Amino acid sequence: TFEVLVIGGGPAGASAAIYAARKGISTGIAAERFGGQVADTMGIENLISVPYTEGPKLVAAMEQHVKEYDVDIMNMQRAEKLIPASRPGMPHEIRLENGATLKARSLVLSTGARWRQIGVPGEAEYRNKGVAYCPHCDGPLFKGKRVAVIGGGNSGVEAAIDLAGIVGHVTLIEFGAEMRADDVLQKKLRSLKNVEVITSGQTTEITGENGKVNGLNYTDRTSGEQHHISLEGVFVQIGLVPNTEWLKGDIELSQHGEIIVNDRNETSIPGVFAAGDATTVPYKQIVISMGEGSKAALSAFDFLIRNSVD
Ligand code: FAD
Repeated sequence: TFEVLVIGGGPAGASAAIYAARKGISTGIAAERFGGQVADTMGIENLISVPYTEGPKLVAAMEQHVKEYDVDIMNMQRAEKLIPASRPGMPHEIRLENGATLKARSLVLSTGARWRQIGVPGEAEYRNKGVAYCPHCDGPLFKGKRVAVIGGGNSGVEAAIDLAGIVGHVTLIEFGAEMRADDVLQKKLRSLKNVEVITSGQTTEITGENGKVNGLNYTDRTSGEQHHISLEGVFVQIGLVPNTEWLKGDIELSQHGEIIVNDRNETSIPGVFAAGDATTVPYKQIVISMGEGSKAALSAFDFLIRNSVD
């Protein structure tokens, strides 16, 4: 039985494991793929004190840091069910896809999230070569250039407003007849001179040349006409999906499927904590996930010293 078992090996999980192990308590970390979204990232320029690094390099550094401590790393293990303690003092159980069960007196859930993709030709091919998902991360790479934002919900409109201050021109493409973002955001967006909004637009392809995005094709869903826009970047903003399907019914989730946490990273189950992109924490970033992971581990430690059985 672990004292702290961390599920997920992204920045939140790695940070939680290090903080827990530094308290001298038995710590395990089970992850489907150590590194998480960071493993899919190219340049990272907003990890404070590290002006520039790359995803795989940061993953290697995180793993090396975790290995400085006595942490049981179980990589390539997918959790499929959480069985909460039957009564206080009993361990929680995590059932893995391979059939094994892990037991722990406290848990930190940090299974992260994934960006919803539009699934058109060119999206996967030009990922990190003009196709981006995170305006806070990649916006500055498109300084002075032309970009499109796909999606007119709150995150798409916020991204377009944010990008308009950095890039040369923004075209926002909304699939529906109207944007779905809050009125105040739509008003702000429409006041910006370098933004064009296209509604009833279905993106059909992201085009490129020499390994880089050079435009996109869309269909006007009202007239059926096809159009091409020349640009250098496409930000896909049609939703961030938390990896919490496996927790449904066992723990309280928000309407978006995020694990509901308070400012101490407590969930609806005593002794079960959560951190990072899988939770309701506002803003999903590496530095935030690391901070949240450390908070969750400290809360778990606090829980353990207050609920020791001996
Ligand atoms: P994740 O990184 O998503 O890690 C989740 C972990 O949980 C993984 O180990 C995964 O394998 C595991 N997991 C999932 N489900 C299960 C399961 N059922 N059982 C076991 N394990 C499971 N942020 C920045 O700050 N700066 C950037 O420049 C930046 N660029 C980005 C570029 C891209 C392309 C992407 C996709 C994201 C970027 N982000 C960036 C966002 C950043 O990567 C995330 O905010 C951060 O990785 C979240 O950390 P996390 O630990 O919460 O989750």
